[in-house]
Amino acid sequence: MTRFLKKSLVNILQSYEIDNVFSSFDQIGDIVIIRIQEDLLHRKKIIGEVLLDKIKKAKSIYRQSSVVKGDFRTRELELLAGIDKTETEYKEYGCRFNVDVKTVFFSPRLSTERNRISELTENGENIINMFGGIGMFSILIAKKKKCNIYNIDINPEAIRLCKKNLKLNKMVGNVIPICGDASDIINELHDMSDRTLMLLPERSDSFLDSAILGTKSNGVIHYYCHIHANKKNAIECAVKHYFNITKIKSSILHANIVRAIGPRYYQIAIDANIIK
Ligand code: SAM
Repeated sequence: MTRFLKKSLVNILQSYEIDNVFSSFDQIGDIVIIRIQEDLLHRKKIIGEVLLDKIKKAKSIYRQSSVVKGDFRTRELELLAGIDKTETEYKEYGCRFNVDVKTVFFSPRLSTERNRISELTENGENIINMFGGIGMFSILIAKKKKCNIYNIDINPEAIRLCKKNLKLNKMVGNVIPICGDASDIINELHDMSDRTLMLLPERSDSFLDSAILGTKSNGVIHYYCHIHANKKNAIECAVKHYFNITKIKSSILHANIVRAIGPRYYQIAIDANIIK
């Protein structure tokens, strides 16, 4: 996949232009999203058309034209080729999801992390997914485990799609979609969860008190953060950061790099067992 785009552009772009093409792109159902460097923007249409031609399943090629931003963590997209349709179906680990790549946050690059968490959960758990989006983590868990999962999100469109996705998948567990600010909702869910997920790495620190409030003593918080560090120090730096900001006795069960998000910049997951 990584050489695919560059190879497809041989004889279409100059070789110095090909050097500046980002190798990776995201394919979500029949939608492809690429990023293009500033100095190649005048070639964006041809790049889009080549991708549309070479990727059999693709119906729409978009360029990500802004960073992921705002409370809803969405991005601006510009159509390069194909049809202008941002809703599609995406499959992951036997589950089906309706996704709108323009109006809600979505990343296929979190699939390994989603599977890791779904493997960790046990039947009978109550789970709070504070930033649950369209229900990716929640549905993957409920597919396998008889859990109760509160899937909270502030974006009404994410909750609409979550409700649609619940109908698309046969699950043994129960997912409860709730639209609102996680910190307000948790005020009604004190000491409720055995496991709390907080996948909003940019703002985890300001929601940690709410996560602690919602989690039972001896429960687990899945805390995510972004850390500037060398790859070999990134986990250690993130754990140090967690201990600097948490006000509660915690033991770290596990920590891992979820993905690189830039040069010397990593998203880290920390599984913390908390004692109240
Ligand atoms: N867990 C989901 C996934 O993996 O697809 C989505 C994670 S996304 C990084 C963060 C989500 O948090 C977005 O869907 C956004 O709308 C939601 N969000 C942001 N602020 C929030 C808040 N205060 N309360 C609840 N949800 C919030």
